Amino acid sequence: MDPLKRLEQEIKKCVKCGACRAYCPVFSVTGREPVSARGKVALARAALSGDIRLDARTRSDMSKCLLCGKCVEKCANEVPTDLIVLAAREALARKQGKTLFHRMMGFLLRNRTLLTGGASLVSLLTPLLFRRIPASSGLRLRFPLPFVGGRRHVPKLAAKPFLARHSEVIPGEPGKPRIVYFVGCMTNFIYPEIGEAAVALLKSLGCTIIIPSDQQCCGFPALSGGDMDTFRELAEKNLSALESHAPDYIMTACASCGSAFHRMYPRVLGERLPALAERFRALAEKTVDAAELLQKLGLHPRQPAGMPVQDITYHDPCHLRSRGVVRQPRELLRALPDLCLVEMKDADACCGLGGTFTVHHYGTSLGINARKTAAIKASGAQTVVTGCPGCMLQLSDGLHQAGSKARVLHTLEILARSLLKKEHVDPSSH
Ligand code: SF4
Ligand code: SF4
Repeated sequence: MDPLKRLEQEIKKCVKCGACRAYCPVFSVTGREPVSARGKVALARAALSGDIRLDARTRSDMSKCLLCGKCVEKCANEVPTDLIVLAAREALARKQGKTLFHRMMGFLLRNRTLLTGGASLVSLLTPLLFRRIPASSGLRLRFPLPFVGGRRHVPKLAAKPFLARHSEVIPGEPGKPRIVYFVGCMTNFIYPEIGEAAVALLKSLGCTIIIPSDQQCCGFPALSGGDMDTFRELAEKNLSALESHAPDYIMTACASCGSAFHRMYPRVLGERLPALAERFRALAEKTVDAAELLQKLGLHPRQPAGMPVQDITYHDPCHLRSRGVVRQPRELLRALPDLCLVEMKDADACCGLGGTFTVHHYGTSLGINARKTAAIKASGAQTVVTGCPGCMLQLSDGLHQAGSKARVLHTLEILARSLLKKEHVDPSSH
């Protein structure tokens, strides 16, 4: 079935009021109606009725979406613009073929051994490919490469991926919850220290930790390029890998992986694969964000005593904000000793990453990020905390390019450092 046809009734719910437009980060930087939230729904409607063709121009406009979900939250008619954009991208990929980037990505995501080997090779070749940037822990390419660009500040890939560091089961205390940890590619290959912090915190609570070795990418990068076959294959593998351990909870520390489980598996795949719909729904119900879970399990930092010695600020990842995970990380951070949480302006504004959006539209991505960087600098905080490794990548890039020395940490890292006095650093990165 035509992917847009599936959403025909939802597309028709749009009354063109434009309320979503004011919140669309892409529109705020470009000022172009066709790439605003309302504009993309209008394009989808025009494509459905045959008024426009699914051509290169439509593809370009539909690619300009961060899938941040802000428009969905603000629409009184509950128009699912993010799902409509994804359906349009799928229709475009079917008609015109997948882009080179998404063909390569799909191939790597479906071949986990190759992906892991490739990441290890890049890690080994880092001194040849990258130069270290003084005054930051980031790297910059020595020469521009396709899809990366010479300007971007990137962190070093882990010498040993997180999934290769631990046994599959870390036993806990009898009677304590069984947590299946879905690691996600960013933590596995780039920020293994987030995973180490997760393990340390869950251990401190006596939980049994299961880290399934056959877990795959959540599939979001494939979905965002309209590669439904890869998305479906990865989702089915994850379903089997995670549910087979009969967990009390499935924990993610990546906002986008959590969004894939919560929204995309049931909404995008559940309707196409009725035999799996109930299992996708159950997976979504068991999946919780790490900050939410730690609070639920009783991680109660002691109340701050005396004068805080450092200001921190918190950035809301779009894919946590849209799931209502806003209060929990702040409550955990506010209760940390020695730290003072100061709110930045528009903490819930998108950082501009948008997964593969930043690969194709780096200039716009940085333009959106510039406001976030300015807000962080104005807060005066020396540390920015967030709950998504993707946001960490983008925030670090923006801050370093703006000459800021503020560091970026995951919520789990700052909790582990503060409460357990454990600092997990990939030895190869220093
Ligand atoms: S998507 Fe919703 S908020 Fe946006 S123009 Fe349509 S009805 Fe209005
Ligand atoms: S999901 Fe975000 S970027 Fe995409 S149209 Fe909606 S508000 Fe704009």
